[in-house]
Amino acid sequence: MELLTSVAAMRHAAESARAHRGRVVLVPTMGALHAGHLKLVEEAGAQGDAVVVSVFVNPTQFGEGEDFDAYPRKLEADRKLLEDQGIATHLFAPTVSEMYPDGAAAQRTSVVVEKLTTTLCGAYRPGHFDGVTTVVTMLFEITKPHVAVFGQKDAQQLAVIRRMVRDLHMPVTIVGVPIVRESDGLALSSRNQYLSDEERAQAPVLYEALQEAVAMVEEGELLVEPLVVRMREIIDSAPLAEPQYISVVDADSLDAVDQLNPGQQVLLAVAVYFGETRLIDNVRLTVPPE
Ligand code: AMP
Repeated sequence: MELLTSVAAMRHAAESARAHRGRVVLVPTMGALHAGHLKLVEEAGAQGDAVVVSVFVNPTQFGEGEDFDAYPRKLEADRKLLEDQGIATHLFAPTVSEMYPDGAAAQRTSVVVEKLTTTLCGAYRPGHFDGVTTVVTMLFEITKPHVAVFGQKDAQQLAVIRRMVRDLHMPVTIVGVPIVRESDGLALSSRNQYLSDEERAQAPVLYEALQEAVAMVEEGELLVEPLVVRMREIIDSAPLAEPQYISVVDADSLDAVDQLNPGQQVLLAVAVYFGETRLIDNVRLTVPPE
């Protein structure tokens, strides 16, 4: 696996991989890699020939007061995990000044997906998805991938990226990968390491709440309110949990719904604070036919 830190070197390596190896697959990450990321890399290996993993903690997707400075940076450990897995062919780890030579705050161009970015996390993290779509577009421009792989863990991000690619006719196929979880149901996240032991012990309530709502839908519940009430009860049973949102939306438009339609694809999504740590989780499901 080749480590590249400059845009020019990455561009050159990706061009050469395209010419000699065939299909280029990109896996964008912010590093502090875990088994969830490695699952994306595994999928990337199945999708193509050259697998580029990017590790870049992108300042423009962090808001004021968010954890940009504290975000874990473990490039050496990330490199070792990828080497041991043996699938990635290129690791792209640029510095902030390499990606934003004038400084991130001086960037004057951004890619904005409208509407889908105003619900769920977007309602609480203004500008976050603009930072994501802009940096992903930059990574696409640098590596020109045939395929890019994203996790369903960030379901809104996946929907936004799919929409961006469709709207802008970007020549890349987006592949989504199911959420990888700990044995107690907690979705793997680089932010889980912020949790105290006590918080960690209570964190599985996110997935418990989602699963309970899925069971209610499978038993025929079509009204959203009782689903949200039940999820809130379960999350509130954890004394350290502070829910930010508990939402049921159409899986494609991300519009909030009051009532589920048989056959509809819906997304149950939650964001919950444990102290300073914000965890998100979701389940996508098809409402059973009548
Ligand atoms: P991040 O480094 O957190 O920005 O995540 C990079 C990519 O890995 C995103 O596409 C995430 O959705 C995906 N990802 C993170 N955690 C998981 C997980 N537990 N299961 C599946 N994909 C994940």
